[in-house]
Order: sequence, then C-alpha cells, then structure tokens
Amino acid sequence: MTVTLLGFPWDASSSYARGPALAPAIIRSVLFSDASSPYSLSGASVGDIISGYDFADLPKEADACRTAISDRIAQTLKSKTKPLSLGGDHSVTYPILRAIKNAHGPVNILHIDAHPDLYEEFDGDRYSHACPFARAIEDGCVNNLVQVGIRSASPEQRAFGKKHDVAMLSADEAAAIPYDKLTAPLYVSIDLDGLDPAYAPGVSHPEPGGLSTREVLAMLAKLPAAPVGADIVEYNPERDINLATAHVAARLIKELAALMVQTN
Ligand code: MN
Ligand code: MN
Repeated sequence: MTVTLLGFPWDASSSYARGPALAPAIIRSVLFSDASSPYSLSGASVGDIISGYDFADLPKEADACRTAISDRIAQTLKSKTKPLSLGGDHSVTYPILRAIKNAHGPVNILHIDAHPDLYEEFDGDRYSHACPFARAIEDGCVNNLVQVGIRSASPEQRAFGKKHDVAMLSADEAAAIPYDKLTAPLYVSIDLDGLDPAYAPGVSHPEPGGLSTREVLAMLAKLPAAPVGADIVEYNPERDINLATAHVAARLIKELAALMVQTN
C-alpha cells in the first residue's frame, strides 16, 4: 500500500481570510526542498511512500468543487492507494469523508483543531469551513469523533458535540485522548490552527494556548490503527513567517504517510 498526495486549492468557504488555496503547492515544494530531509521519525523515506500526486485545479463553484474533491478521493481509493490531502480550508474535509465513507463505511476520526467546526451553518453557508464535521456526522460518515486542541467552542457547538457523542478535548487534555475509540477504519484531520501560533503562525484564525508540534507527533505515534486517509488543512501562506508552518505541514506529511503504509 502506498499514499497519494492530493492538493485541494480551495479557500472560498473561509469565513475570514483567503490564502489557503495557495497552500498545497507551497507545502509540496517545502516537503521536497533541499532544506528538509525526506525521513519520518521511523526512518521511512517520503519519496518511497508517496506513489502519486494529484494537484489538479478545482472548479470555481462550491458545489462542483465538492463533487470534484469526492471524485478525486474515490479515484485514489480505487487505484489502491491511500489519500493524504492538503487543503485548502477545512471545508474540503466533508467531501473527502463522503468518498471515504463509500469505500470504508463510517470512520473513527482524530481531529486536531482550535475549533470544533460543528456549526449548523456559518454566515449562511452550511458548507463553510466552520461546519465540515456537522455535515459529516449528519451524513453518516463518522463513527467516533475525537477532537483535540479545542479552545473556541461556542455553546451551540458544545451542544451539537454532546448530542452526537463527540469527545471534545482542549490542548491540556491531550493526555486523556480515548485512543480506544480510534481503531480502524481511522481517519486523521489536522487543522494547523490546532497547534499553538508559536509553532504554526501561518493560519487565518490563530488561537494561543494550543498544541506543540511534538505533542501532535506524540499523538500520531500512539494511534492504534494505520489511517485509511488524512488531511492537513488551513495553512495560510500569507500569514506565515519564514515558511515555519509549511515546514510543520511537511513534517506531518512524513509522519502521516509513514503511519498510513503500516499494516494493522
Ligand atoms: Mn481551526
Ligand atoms: Mn478547522
């Protein structure tokens, strides 16, 4: 089993700042730049693990864009590789999960984020980057949802989470992650604003008090199953400093890809 790296340059479902559409190409160039090594912590080389690249443009209209994302994930799964997707804003995760559900059924999800992204709608948009996990739950894509790093949950989102048995943990509660809920089929969604802005300043919605890079890496190392897919979203190059956040994304690609090719 190998991994396909996909880029989804979409940021029109962002509620505040544009920029994440620029992310996939920049993260890819940093991943393979001479400034960084290709090796995961376990010694796997990312160039050996990633067998395919899909960085095609997306339709400009939101519905058509989501359909295109689902289709490209389905195509990746059909070719017997696992999709590792680069956003784009977090709205890309719902159409990804739709396609994952068709292949694997409902998945268990580790979701790292400052925000629960469980709004019924945001600014009138049910597919906003503030809503993907509400849509995924309603659509039957989710078995267990475990959110870590959350520090901006509105009462509405807390109520939605409680109703649907979402485990909503702050960065301080990372030691209490219920790993027994994260068995196969497992999906990992990493919004880079889940990390503290000290580690990942290149995001549209920085929220101090977040996770460190090492805490996220330690979390990934403890996962009890090889993910069937993963995404890294919300990198905003226009807010970054010396590509620091792009380098975090590149490290996360190496670790996620190495985990994804393990056999359970
Ligand atoms: Mn977020
Ligand atoms: Mn998010």
